Amino acid sequence: MTTTRDNTIDIAVLDGSFADEATQAAVRVSNQLAFQAAGKTASGSDKTNLFDLDRVSLENFFEEKLGEKRFRAHQVMKWIHHRYVTDFNDMTDLGKVLRAKLELHAEVRAPMVIFDKASSDGTHKWLLGMDPKNAIEAVFIPDKGRGTLCVSSQVGCALNCQFCSTATQGFNRNLSTAEIIGQVWVAARHLGNVPHQQRKLTNVVMMGMGEPLMNFDNVVRAMSIMRDDLGYGLANKRVTLSTAGMVPMIDRLGEESDVSLAVSLHAASDELRTELVPLNKKYPIAELMAACQRYVQRKPRSSITFEYTLMKGVNDQPVHARQLARLMRQFDNAVQMKDAGKVNLIPFNPFPGTRFERSTEEDIRAFQKLLLDSHVLTMVRRTRGDDIDAACGQLKGQVMDRTRRQADFRKTLQSQGIDDAA
Ligand code: SF4
Repeated sequence: MTTTRDNTIDIAVLDGSFADEATQAAVRVSNQLAFQAAGKTASGSDKTNLFDLDRVSLENFFEEKLGEKRFRAHQVMKWIHHRYVTDFNDMTDLGKVLRAKLELHAEVRAPMVIFDKASSDGTHKWLLGMDPKNAIEAVFIPDKGRGTLCVSSQVGCALNCQFCSTATQGFNRNLSTAEIIGQVWVAARHLGNVPHQQRKLTNVVMMGMGEPLMNFDNVVRAMSIMRDDLGYGLANKRVTLSTAGMVPMIDRLGEESDVSLAVSLHAASDELRTELVPLNKKYPIAELMAACQRYVQRKPRSSITFEYTLMKGVNDQPVHARQLARLMRQFDNAVQMKDAGKVNLIPFNPFPGTRFERSTEEDIRAFQKLLLDSHVLTMVRRTRGDDIDAACGQLKGQVMDRTRRQADFRKTLQSQGIDDAA
């Protein structure tokens, strides 16, 4: 059923749509065995995984742990992130002694590709094993002149946004820096991306599984590698972090990083937003918008994208559009900048068991028009990759849930007579 090649396991059926429980169980066992055979479990090595280190920490590692010059770290970063080389013996401009030291103390361990699938529209999805029991998804979306990778930050998600497929799987743990940047590495290698020369991967969005600001340090370190010339060389504005509204962490992000910010809003009134995004109870809209204001004011000429998933009869009516337009105008006025807040409308992508439906095309257009007529810059995100369950809000890995949420959702599916083995 499985064969190990390079660090790829071919598992024909490992997808969000497994045939049945027995198949799933067999896949899990095979997966676990493959990890053990490779001797590369997440916890099985005391060597430093160099994927975990950004430029400064890698320089420190070379100086303090290996007793080497700091600039040697730059050579190694280029081998890893520009040329996708993970074997120190293939890093030919390093001396033999240094290679031996690296072999002793370090490794370059990428996530294991369990499964990957291409959509008819060019979108590509990977299911990546993070340890023998957990897997996450990353998605590459090519578009005119750009290629965007959607990256996960956690195994599952501790938040419980009501319209999100990831939320139904519960939560296991944060991803390490290596596991986050490893997603970029796997995709970039697959695409034949050459930083600074033939850039197929032009943008990264932290919009996959998880709330990135609940895994702050690892996410910020990984984003620093994405933006480093020795890493993937992406401009600050081409790396976007999307949050459901972790207010204190938005302020910290403003102090420590310089990336684009997107906020999952989905409703412009507290009553409705609390229903859709329970985090709103803790950080209501006024506090969230104040944090957004501080973020923009720290970075002149920056703007924030507010994501708004349109669900039929829930938040897609003219009254909701008018509330949103008012909120956006207030935001522009507060920061004294036109188009400081942009709106990205996302037609809801259904998944088995959800109680929500996609808005009609007519309602989506009417909603957008009302915002545009109110001078709010508004785009509609085209659905991509829905034939491989890779569309926005559909990501689903393999989560050994530490909450009750996955079991509860399975009961809901059973009560609806839906056979979903995920
Ligand atoms: S929408 Fe984002 S923050 Fe909300 S549950 Fe899903 S992954 Fe978590």
